[in-house]
Amino acid sequence: MVPVETPTLAGTDAVMAGCAPVPAAIDPADIADAALRPVAEKVASGQRLDFDDGMALWNSRDLFAIGALANAVRESMHGRRAYYNINRHINYSNICALSCKFCEFHRKRGETGAYEYDLEEIYRIAGQADAAGATEVHIVGGLHPWLPFAWYLEMLSGIKKRYPRLHLKCFTAIEIDHFCRIAKLSIREVLEALREHGLGSMPGGGAEVFDDRVHDEVFKGKLRSDGWMRVHRTAHELGIKTNATILYGHVETRAERVRHLIKLRELQDDAPGFQCIIPLSFIPDGSELGHLPGNTGLEDMKMLAISRLMLSNFPHVKAFWIMQSMKLSQVSLNFGVDDLDGTVVWYDITKREGGSGNKHQEQTVEDIRRLVVEAGYIPVERDTLYRRVIRNGSDWQVAQERG
Ligand code: SF4
Repeated sequence: MVPVETPTLAGTDAVMAGCAPVPAAIDPADIADAALRPVAEKVASGQRLDFDDGMALWNSRDLFAIGALANAVRESMHGRRAYYNINRHINYSNICALSCKFCEFHRKRGETGAYEYDLEEIYRIAGQADAAGATEVHIVGGLHPWLPFAWYLEMLSGIKKRYPRLHLKCFTAIEIDHFCRIAKLSIREVLEALREHGLGSMPGGGAEVFDDRVHDEVFKGKLRSDGWMRVHRTAHELGIKTNATILYGHVETRAERVRHLIKLRELQDDAPGFQCIIPLSFIPDGSELGHLPGNTGLEDMKMLAISRLMLSNFPHVKAFWIMQSMKLSQVSLNFGVDDLDGTVVWYDITKREGGSGNKHQEQTVEDIRRLVVEAGYIPVERDTLYRRVIRNGSDWQVAQERG
């Protein structure tokens, strides 16, 4: 086993000083698939890829060339660093007014498996996270039909009052849209109120695939792409950092995936504020789409690498290990990925290899760091805003420079 260094201040500084230099650019002439060479030329000269380039990447069977191109970009941005954080997910309720076909999480009131945490339970979980040294709690849930907006504000301010150091990364765009409806407020007013009560940033869920055909087939009733974009644009205008996702591997085509990435890139140009793209590998088990086969490992690797290549204005690409598995996430560090999310602990929304039952899904820091080192990278603990964390046990502080 590779020894895991204790991430003290001195140890972390040594890690940062040990970052390897950026590797030489890939020589396009070395790429066996001729269709990829024009793409490689663009990558080598720092040009943006267009739709046709995205399709050429999807149509190529040369996975290692795609991975090498993505990694050239990844290493030019982050060297050999691989980020993770110590966090805790809290899914406050699975009761939802909608019934998206791909979702195995939602329940109706009174249905077997329906649950909702009260505020004291949420504070207790946040307290556990704080005591364990977490820097972040990540809070999302269903569209609860009767909880008032004031309940969510109280949840945030209650956590912040008790555990002021925790960063609150909360609510997908569709939850924000839901709050607008129940509180009869604009997006801006909702986000400002949430921020006043402790919201630090937003996750990127609910984007699914930005295409009306896919939307109407799989998540009709859910926020359309223009609504999702409006929420994130407004958050960015207010200075609230957010993230973005794509849920791939159900009924969408590869062309629709490429268009989704280009739309995200355009929004980032117009209203910068995205920190990372998180390609979410669809897990069919337990959903109404359970008959679908799900993604293969090769498809996962290509999605992550192509995301890195298409989203040149996104700082980070994350493999959320719950969806891709920890083993593939480790490999993906050599395919354009620079971030592995965090310790998570509990994640109620989905689980690989069997959707129902115990959703305890936790990675230890030691395991995350061991996997990163074994892949040839340098583990760097970050906070939610990608600032390097200096840690001594459960005590931590943010370093002054960017991590
Ligand atoms: S995906 Fe979200 S909005 Fe759709 S049913 Fe599941 S919890 Fe509800």
